[in-house]
Amino acid sequence: YTYSPGTSYEIHALKDINLNIPDGQFIGVIGHTGSGKSTLIQHLNALIRPTSGTVSYNGEDVWAENYNRRALRSEVGLVFQYPEHQLFESDVLSDVCFGPMNQGKSREEEAKKALLQVGFKEKNFKKSPFDLSGGQKKRVAIAGVLAMNPKILILDEPTAGLDPKGRDEILDQIAELHKVRGITIILVSHSMEDVAKYVERLIVVNHGKIAFDDIPKKVFAHYKELEEMGLAAPQITYIMHALKEKGLPVDPADTTVEEAKQDILHALREMNSTLLKGGVQND
Ligand code: ADP
Ligand code: MG
Repeated sequence: YTYSPGTSYEIHALKDINLNIPDGQFIGVIGHTGSGKSTLIQHLNALIRPTSGTVSYNGEDVWAENYNRRALRSEVGLVFQYPEHQLFESDVLSDVCFGPMNQGKSREEEAKKALLQVGFKEKNFKKSPFDLSGGQKKRVAIAGVLAMNPKILILDEPTAGLDPKGRDEILDQIAELHKVRGITIILVSHSMEDVAKYVERLIVVNHGKIAFDDIPKKVFAHYKELEEMGLAAPQITYIMHALKEKGLPVDPADTTVEEAKQDILHALREMNSTLLKGGVQND
């Protein structure tokens, strides 16, 4: 995909992208700012048309002449990077029913269900969107897309700017949608901790190309290369590498706090006698 092709300021935002997304996966997309993440996901519901190459959904070219892109956009729901800037209605419920994110009008029942699903309290349904906190606005925007009952939900940095509690709540609810409804989720994120905790497949975009596409553990094993791309592995991975270097028999590929905890406890038990009796000096 090239922005402003043929001009002196053209930008080759995506190059040589080859990607296959099966139903039901929970996928993370990471990459430095300007790497092409937002450009990439906007192809997935035909918001932008590839400069060359094709995008197919269920085997059909979405840019074919008679293809119903409107139907595609209601099946492949996209929550933009700053959806909270697109709430205009007088109250929350109307925004979810008629939101500009929607490709059509959702019924009030669907809208209410979607709001509850993202943890939005019923007593606040009639509030003005302008009186909401950042986290609540994001929930309303996500609900606006969910109310369309998408088969695929794409979220472009949905937790940027939220406090840790709001972030975890929103991601837990998204994970729940994936588990309960079997929705395919594509989560663009800048948080390594988040992707390590939630996704089963991780795509790394670097300068418009896919640098890695694998399970998170295998991707984070390349943490030195990730650093060169302006990224990093989850903090816990660095701790595990350091512990391993100090002689603790742990798996440096751990990427979540829970894994690391189990692993450290296990290692400590194994070393128990020497370690607890002070057999290991310092550090
Ligand atoms: P990311 O989401 O990873 O930050 P983007 O897909 O937004 O990356 O941007 C990829 C590249 O395309 C960047 O160089 C960015 O400046 C450029 N770009 C993005 N949107 C536009 C646009 N509307 N017009 C021109 N260039 C753009
Ligand atoms: Mg972006």
